[in-house]
Amino acid sequence: MITTFESLGLTMPILQALKSKGYKVPTPVQQQAIPLILSGRDVFGSAQTGTGKTAAFALPLLHLLSEKQRVAKHARVLVLAPTRELTQQIGESFRLYGQNTRLKQTIIYGGVSQQAQVDSLRRGNDILIATPGRLLDLLNQKHLSLHAIEHFVLDEADRMLDMGFIHDIKRIVQHLPAERQTLMFSATLSKEIKHLASGILKDFDSFSIKSAKSDPVQTHEKVYYIDRSAKAKLLQHLVSEESIERSLVFTRTKRGADKLVKMLARKGIMAQAIHGNKSQAQRLRALKSFKENKLCMLIATDVASRGIDIHELSHVINYDIPEQTETYTHRIGRTGRAGREGIAYSFCSPEEKTYLKDIQKFIGKQIPVALHPFRAIG
Ligand code: AMP
Repeated sequence: MITTFESLGLTMPILQALKSKGYKVPTPVQQQAIPLILSGRDVFGSAQTGTGKTAAFALPLLHLLSEKQRVAKHARVLVLAPTRELTQQIGESFRLYGQNTRLKQTIIYGGVSQQAQVDSLRRGNDILIATPGRLLDLLNQKHLSLHAIEHFVLDEADRMLDMGFIHDIKRIVQHLPAERQTLMFSATLSKEIKHLASGILKDFDSFSIKSAKSDPVQTHEKVYYIDRSAKAKLLQHLVSEESIERSLVFTRTKRGADKLVKMLARKGIMAQAIHGNKSQAQRLRALKSFKENKLCMLIATDVASRGIDIHELSHVINYDIPEQTETYTHRIGRTGRAGREGIAYSFCSPEEKTYLKDIQKFIGKQIPVALHPFRAIG
């Protein structure tokens, strides 16, 4: 039997929103998570971005919230996410899927003035979506209370730990009612993640969606063996030879990203960098231009890129080979999302060959080698 959004029992206003968004069938993570969340269970989901996991928790939570009126102005759902961009994307998802409900949300993140966020909190809201640091700031200043939270979501928990948020998370959890539903999502499953899960979840169900293996969507991978100094030329060559319309290019360092943007600009290729040294406004501007097709390329470092939801990404390019094998799968998981085919190219210089060897061992296959007109030493 085919699972549909209707058969999952979601309310009409939500079904209508999904229809207007063009979603036809729930993705595997949604099929697994939605019934569990609706039943009130705690859930641990091992799923990457790109599998439809935001809707997997947003849809049932909107359903549960719209069944009951909010009593006071305090939020009943708290979603914690590691980056500002991610909070905004999650907020956008809640807004879209909840467009036919009267539910209100506030998005809280640092790097901007807190006044608009405080004003929004004062007006009352159902859903809070926050990065940990700013949320704690506002809690300490008594601008909000978490005593009415009924559903707590920890999204991209592994990245939260990588970014050093563990203590903030623990402090926030102390403000939450013990009686609550907790949902935790993580792309990877380490000892630390399991430890955190056992601390904040109660008698939970878990599931694992391995997008790379169970996903029928193909990502075409190729590796270009190339001398380090010729990588920029190769990138230009690929942009002019192939229709690289919307690509995310990964560099190891922030400086590398900036250098590449300048170099591409000289060749008339419009690209912008998003990384930790850019202001929030600059990052949002770059993301907006990219989404509006004013830019064909975003150059990103791993931390900054994590969780960015960009539709119709044609290519992911590993301008530098990642040192961590799992980063490779995270990166290439960004292309070919939700039913679309993707292309992932890796530029491998002689110094990076050992990283590539480890990656191929980790993914259990050899990446096909591409030919190109430039020099490859070693
Ligand atoms: P996420 O894993 O939440 O980042 O979602 C990845 C992308 O898939 C987003 O662009 C969603 O809008 C899209 N998406 C989520 N669920 C579905 C669905 N059931 N059908 C089609 N697209 C979806």
